[in-house]
Amino acid sequence: MNSEDISKINSLLSSPKNIVVVGHKNPDGDAVGSCLGLGNFLKQKGHQVQVIMPNDFPDFLKWIPEASTIINYEQQQEQTKEAVQKAALIFTLDFNALNRTGDLANELEQATADFILIDHHQQPDDYAVVTYSDVSMCSTCEMVFHFMENLNGIHLLNKEIATQLYVGIMTDTGSFRYPATTATTHRVIASLIEAGAENTSIHQNIYDTNSPDRLKLLGAALNNMVMLPEYRTAYITLSQQELNNHHFKKGDTEGFVNYALSMTGVIFAIIFIENKKEDIIKISLRSKGEFSVNEFSRKYFNGGGHTNAAGGRSLKNLNESVEEFISILPRYKKELNES
Ligand code: 5GP
Ligand code: MN
Repeated sequence: MNSEDISKINSLLSSPKNIVVVGHKNPDGDAVGSCLGLGNFLKQKGHQVQVIMPNDFPDFLKWIPEASTIINYEQQQEQTKEAVQKAALIFTLDFNALNRTGDLANELEQATADFILIDHHQQPDDYAVVTYSDVSMCSTCEMVFHFMENLNGIHLLNKEIATQLYVGIMTDTGSFRYPATTATTHRVIASLIEAGAENTSIHQNIYDTNSPDRLKLLGAALNNMVMLPEYRTAYITLSQQELNNHHFKKGDTEGFVNYALSMTGVIFAIIFIENKKEDIIKISLRSKGEFSVNEFSRKYFNGGGHTNAAGGRSLKNLNESVEEFISILPRYKKELNES
């Protein structure tokens, strides 16, 4: 953050305010952790804070301190409208465009509040009075820590915030292994552990909560995996029927695409997941090295994200979506083999 942004924020926060903190649709660990951590910090500074998510988040994030205080827009529309309308300030965290909040964007667009964006995704939209965007950051949670530092607020770091921020840094870095994990990230993590974050139990709470159904769904996904060695690519499909057969719950497919990327020689992996309720195919893309799945998804699958991790969607059916994907690959043959 530059000094101009810091003084703008200091002046916006100089008197108690009604503040809303919003994450993106289908919230992940970084969205939930960063919103709750920032919310806790702002409450300690004397503000009234409401954290809002566009829809529900997975059970493996429900144990996070203060997660039960979050309003779910999909189920609590009136409460959301009231909170958004009376807010003087709205922080938007872990996303770069209001449409990433789905239908909640309609409410946000009508708000009279000033917006502050804190995010690490590429190409942020221009809707905020302060845009704290840093694509080199591993997670929005790390940015919330730096935000607190910039506001001279590290003395307010408590066990709850430490836990909330640890979750997002851990999940967005694939447990501290993706390239955006820096020495500074580890220093931040050290501070969080000193402030009370229990690293072992946080990891267990997030990753050791598999149900038999989820593991069998993973089996089905791996069974469906197709290798395309000439493109150093692998893809996975899951149909609605397969999800139903394994009593799919939100979050169950989290991380499946990484198995495809873990194969020797694969630098581009993609999973296509049928969603009959929304009538879309939800797509997750991952890469290694310079091949940008952000650009690929923006161009072909109405999505985006980061260079090595992006999401998107297709309005075609499952087979057609896969066929379209395969038909695009020859254009990238050289890039995929040189990357
Ligand atoms: P996932 O595959 O886990 O849904 O998403 C991977 C990354 O891309 C996450 O950081 C997520 O926030 C981002 N992402 C997912 N879908 C979209 C999208 O439609 N647009 C943009 N800009 N980012 C997305
Ligand atoms: Mn994130």
